[in-house]
Amino acid sequence: MRILKIDHIGIAVKNLAESAKLYEMLGIQSTGSEVVAEQQVKVSFFPVGDSEIELLESTSPDGPIARYIEKNGEGIQHLALRVDDIEAALEELKANGIRLIDEKPRYGAGGAKIAFVHPKSTGGILLELSQR
Ligand code: ZN
Repeated sequence: MRILKIDHIGIAVKNLAESAKLYEMLGIQSTGSEVVAEQQVKVSFFPVGDSEIELLESTSPDGPIARYIEKNGEGIQHLALRVDDIEAALEELKANGIRLIDEKPRYGAGGAKIAFVHPKSTGGILLELSQR
C-alpha cells in the first residue's frame, strides 16, 4: 500500500449552498455537486492545491451526515487519504488488526473507490481511503 496524498477533508454541513459561500468568497471554485444516493448525501468538492475540501449535506433526516451533525454539530467529519491500491490497503490494515467499517471498497463521489476505517482504530478520526 502506498499513501499518495491527502485526497480531501470532509466537512459535514446543514446547508451546502450556504456553506459553499465561504469557500467561494475565498476564491475557491466548486467543481460541481453530486448526490451519492447510497450514502444519503449531496457533496460538493472545492479543489485547494493538490487536495480538496468536500462539503457534505444529508439528503435524509436519518442519513449518516444528519446523525453526525445531530451528535457533533457541523464540522470536519472525515479525512481522506488517496492510496494506489485500495484492496491491498484494506488487506494490510486488516492484517494489522485495524478495525474497518468497509471490508470491501464501494463507490463514492466522482466514481472513486472508497472505504472507511473505524475511528476506534485511528485515535478518533474517521479515515477514508480513496482510489481514483
Ligand atoms: Zn470523503
